[in-house]
Amino acid sequence: MLDSTLGELQAALAAGRISSVELTGLHLERIRALDGKLNAFITVDEDTSLAQARAADARRARGEAGPLTGIPLAHKDIFCTRALRTTCGSRMLEHYRSPYDAHVIEQFERAGAVQLGKTNMDEFAMGSSNETSYFGPVRNPWDAALVPGGSSGGSAVAVATRMAPAATGTDTGGSIRQPAALTGVCGLKPTYGLVSRYGMVAFASSLDQGGPIARAAADLALLLNVMAGHDARDSTSLERPKEDYTRELGLSLRGMRIGLPGEYFGEGTDPGVLACVRAAIAWFESQGAHTVPIELAHTALAVPVYYVLAPAEASSNLSRFDGVRYGHRAKDYADLLDMYCRTRAEGFGVEVQRRILVGTYVLSHGYYDAYYLQAQKVRRLIAGDFAAAFGKCDLILGPTAPSTAFAIGAKIDDPVQMYLNDIFTIPAPLAGLPALSIPCGFDAKGLPVGLQIMGPHFAEALMLGAAHGYQQATDWHRRVHGWLQRAKPDDLMNIDIFFDLMPVAGDAQLGHRLHADAVAAASRTPTFLALLAEWVGGLRPPLGMFGALRSKEGRVDLKRGGLMPIVSIARTLALRVGSTARATPDRLREVAASGRLSETDATTLAGIHADLMTRVLRQQLIDLEEGVRPSSRVAVNGQPRNAMRSLARQLRTLDEIMNGLRGAVAG
Ligand code: GLN
Repeated sequence: MLDSTLGELQAALAAGRISSVELTGLHLERIRALDGKLNAFITVDEDTSLAQARAADARRARGEAGPLTGIPLAHKDIFCTRALRTTCGSRMLEHYRSPYDAHVIEQFERAGAVQLGKTNMDEFAMGSSNETSYFGPVRNPWDAALVPGGSSGGSAVAVATRMAPAATGTDTGGSIRQPAALTGVCGLKPTYGLVSRYGMVAFASSLDQGGPIARAAADLALLLNVMAGHDARDSTSLERPKEDYTRELGLSLRGMRIGLPGEYFGEGTDPGVLACVRAAIAWFESQGAHTVPIELAHTALAVPVYYVLAPAEASSNLSRFDGVRYGHRAKDYADLLDMYCRTRAEGFGVEVQRRILVGTYVLSHGYYDAYYLQAQKVRRLIAGDFAAAFGKCDLILGPTAPSTAFAIGAKIDDPVQMYLNDIFTIPAPLAGLPALSIPCGFDAKGLPVGLQIMGPHFAEALMLGAAHGYQQATDWHRRVHGWLQRAKPDDLMNIDIFFDLMPVAGDAQLGHRLHADAVAAASRTPTFLALLAEWVGGLRPPLGMFGALRSKEGRVDLKRGGLMPIVSIARTLALRVGSTARATPDRLREVAASGRLSETDATTLAGIHADLMTRVLRQQLIDLEEGVRPSSRVAVNGQPRNAMRSLARQLRTLDEIMNGLRGAVAG
């Protein structure tokens, strides 16, 4: 069920095979199990979501079902919702509860969708890595040490990990497409003006556009059908007849002209990304499309132009957060001016402050002509490049981003490096054009690569048709990380553990032995079992996790299942008591002080941990020496990863946790 497309969910709900309450509950459970690690959601309110699901079931029973009735969707926390707070990823709006719904939210409500929660994002949508959120970074499910892209990173991760069937996002300079690319999902930025900006917290009004994030192009089309539409409350909302964006699904690619801009295939783009994109283009050619070289000569100027214009508009839009009207207000201040200054210094993070400063500067007297006006002129040239190109081709294909996901922390202190990520996604919004990203393969590190499809204004149906065709012939969009692939809905308790289970090696024999040892060891630590049982939700020890694991031997790879309990013992104890996601020293002290973890437990666990880690390490070394695929986790999609590095990282984490446990008990 969690892997279903929206179309399949519609059918299942219509046929009564599942109720909205069940479906919503399944996703909420999934969020509970996974999101401690990924941080994709800022706000989840199970009662609200389930109440909406009950209402949806009742509507269906009355025969009043709409196109999305009962389907739970996650919303980027930039869309104002009455039911859930709207933070925009900022301390400024940490407690903000909107008195109205955004137009997009209203449209989804009319269609019957259920709100699953509000997703994490870069603060005020400013960022390409989701690290600028006041609520902490979102992690990439393909490798938790990497960023998921931004600013709609929470939505992309929720969809990639099946915590939500689909989600909303917004794109100003790439914030739907780039995170979609970096997490292996699909995202569409519609033509400017197609989706109302009413109730979407404003960043750069001439660029901002809401759009869908989903697992397949066909799902994007269904969602756009709901999201698009004229709204008099947004003065830039376009008045055009309603369109059915699914109408070109199944179109023939024969004779389609595909423009390839030289500027998108040059140096500076990872060879691994280019290889996947070229292979996708070859597939389009195999279907009878032909490629046309085109020139988008001003591409290199897009980033500087954007980073003048977007901050300029942001500096004006964000002036409303002054501590008077709504949002955060500083506690201590001398006078009104002091109140403004302190409020904004406290409420906004570093990146947002940087944008406001840049924006105010480029709009200021004496600099306006030199920066802002120049940037506006170049924006016209960029739009002109596209207009000329679309005289020669129907669609433009290229990479969505120059690289796959990068490490958390790698670029956050270097704004220029960070901004360069957006080189291929910024041009389309500058020209108001629609653009989408779909998965098209994996690089040598096993990370997803995005293919970007751009089209002329209002070419969404055509673009979606082309993307759908590609997805009928390929399965990149269906791939999930190994640990997720194995996780069935009823394996929820195991999912969390798979995530930690990176360095598992060895044969099934070793797996069996480790597994048996773990069970035996665990039975010597009754307190632990009690805690574990609490965590898995009412299952009684020793039938809780271990029982579940054994009963699933048919489905769970035993090589991994073997080590799973041990790794999870350490992690579970440290992380899950009190259901917190992070094993900070303070948290551990708290656990110890609560008396729920005895000294014997901690010592036993430390012993198991040391013993097993030594064995795994040894096995891993043997595997590496013998050239054996170290494990499926370290060989994603047939691409070997740096096994030793990931192992070392895992060991470090475990060591930290175990030291923390020892310290907690001693202290
Ligand atoms: N990464 C770009 C920025 O930081 C785009 C963000 C967006 O599209 N909202 O502004």
